[in-house]
Amino acid sequence: MTETAFIYHPECDLHQPGPAHPEHPARVQAIMRHLKNIGLTDKLLMEQVADRASYNDVLRVHHPKHIDQVDRLKPEHGCIQVEGDTWVSPGSLDAIYLAAGAGVMAAKDIMAGYYKRAFCCVRPPGHHAEVDRVMGFCFFNNIAVAAQLLRHEYGLNKVAILDFDVHHGNGTASIFQNIPDVLFCSSFQSPHYPERFTHLDKPNMVFTRLPAGSDSHTVKRVWLDDWLPALEKHQPEIILICAGFDAHTADPMADLGWHSEDYYWLTRQIVEFAEKHCDGRIISMLEGGYHLQALSVCVEKHLLALSDLPYDWKPD
Ligand SMILES: [Zn+2]
Repeated sequence: MTETAFIYHPECDLHQPGPAHPEHPARVQAIMRHLKNIGLTDKLLMEQVADRASYNDVLRVHHPKHIDQVDRLKPEHGCIQVEGDTWVSPGSLDAIYLAAGAGVMAAKDIMAGYYKRAFCCVRPPGHHAEVDRVMGFCFFNNIAVAAQLLRHEYGLNKVAILDFDVHHGNGTASIFQNIPDVLFCSSFQSPHYPERFTHLDKPNMVFTRLPAGSDSHTVKRVWLDDWLPALEKHQPEIILICAGFDAHTADPMADLGWHSEDYYWLTRQIVEFAEKHCDGRIISMLEGGYHLQALSVCVEKHLLALSDLPYDWKPD
């Protein structure tokens, strides 16, 4: 088995967009409880985020005005609405910088050779955050912060980002649309939220639209028809994953019919590709997933696949 780092921080719970909001602290709490109950935390390298992302880390991705706007999101009490469904509480800013810091830590540790694979179990998510726009529960684009660090500080030339969240990673597309060295593959329900940056006709932007009702078979199509050929052509030196689990059939936020077996299968394909082409290096970051039980099981299966453990693994 390969040891997978599990990167988290309890202060991500400080981001509390309100009791009725779907992106609430109970998501990560449910995942952590489930992994502990089944004994998987003993198999993982549990690491608390060491540092918040720095201003420079975020500046490689976002416009300075955007960072200023986020830095001002500090209500003294209660929640304030930033846009649409995106709200902040007094502790949100800490969580926002810690979530981005998780990817920074994973990138630095992997490049230092401490481990090959990491899953960042942090929130708020990031893939809807555009260069200059807070959007869809997202403030800073966590995966983009990690990708830009790897390119600019570690000299990686080719990076691939795979996004299997049910919603299109419009933020990531906005950031990398003119950077051909970063391949961005995104599968998403369409038509569906957010319908932005979905029609970029560029070789490094590979989008797979899935109609409502798409079932497990579509997972294989996403990989075999779209992602694998693009990856083979791009030859990335590391693979980053926007791991949203809201395409699951039980998820209340969308209408796809994926199952935990599909996430295991897809993750195994990514791992096997990474082993063959990029020293096995993978950083995965939690994005969506709003049915707590389905989310917990899908994260479990994703972690088993990342760790070279079987789908039906049980502790000895
Ligand atoms: Zn989503």
